Amino acid sequence: MDFLTVRAHNPGPLTLDGTNTYVVGGTVVDPGPEDEGHLEAVLAAGPVERIALTHRHPDHASGAGRLSELSGVPVLAYNDGLGDGDEVAPGLVCVHTPGHAPDHLCFWHPESGTLLSGDLIAGSGSIMIAPPEGDLADYMASLERVRELSPARILPGHGPEVTEAVAKIEGYLAHRREREELVIAALEQGASTVGEVVALAYRDTPPEMHPYAALAARAHLAKLGRDLPA
Ligand SMILES: [Zn+2]
Repeated sequence: MDFLTVRAHNPGPLTLDGTNTYVVGGTVVDPGPEDEGHLEAVLAAGPVERIALTHRHPDHASGAGRLSELSGVPVLAYNDGLGDGDEVAPGLVCVHTPGHAPDHLCFWHPESGTLLSGDLIAGSGSIMIAPPEGDLADYMASLERVRELSPARILPGHGPEVTEAVAKIEGYLAHRREREELVIAALEQGASTVGEVVALAYRDTPPEMHPYAALAARAHLAKLGRDLPA
C-alpha cells in the first residue's frame, strides 16, 4: 500500500509546517483546509474512493465538503460511517483514540506497521489537549493503546514521519507524567489559580506560550479532579 503525503499551506504554531493530507488505498485521510490548490494536488495524487477524517478540527476537515464535491466521494468520520475496528480501506483499520478530541481516530495498517496518527501524535513538539473537549486521561489511555500496536512508523497530521515510533509514544507518555508531577507539586506549594500553576509547573515554557500552557494546565487539573479559577 502506498502512503502519499500532500502538505497543505497552513503553517502555524499548532499546525507546524501545515496539515499533512495522506492518500492511501483510495482514501484521502484528512483533506486539510479548504484551499483549492491543495485539494487539486490531493486529487492529482491518486484515484480517490472516499475521504476519511481523523477528527473534525478545521485544519484537518474544513476542505472535506469541497473535496467531496470535486470528487463525488463520501466523507467518513467517527460515528459517521466509521467506528473502532472498522476497515476504512482494505487492511487499514480505525482505532478510536479520544483525548485531543472525543471523535479522534487513528488509522492503522498492520501489514506495514504504519500508524496514521492525526493529532494523537505530531512529528515534532507535543499535542494540545484543551478541556472541555480535550481530555487528558482519555488521551493518555489512547497513547497506551497505540503503543500496544508497536508501530514501526508514524505518519502524523503535522510534522515529519516518525521512525522511532514506540520511543516517541513512550516519550509522550513520560512527558505528560512528568508534567503531572510538576502540577501536583505546584498544588502542594499552594497554587490556587491556573496562572499560579503555570508559573510553578511550566517554568520551562517561554512566556509567549503561556496561554497554551494555561490550557494544558487545565487539562492536568481536570485529570486530577481539580477546577481552579484562571
Ligand atoms: Zn486537532
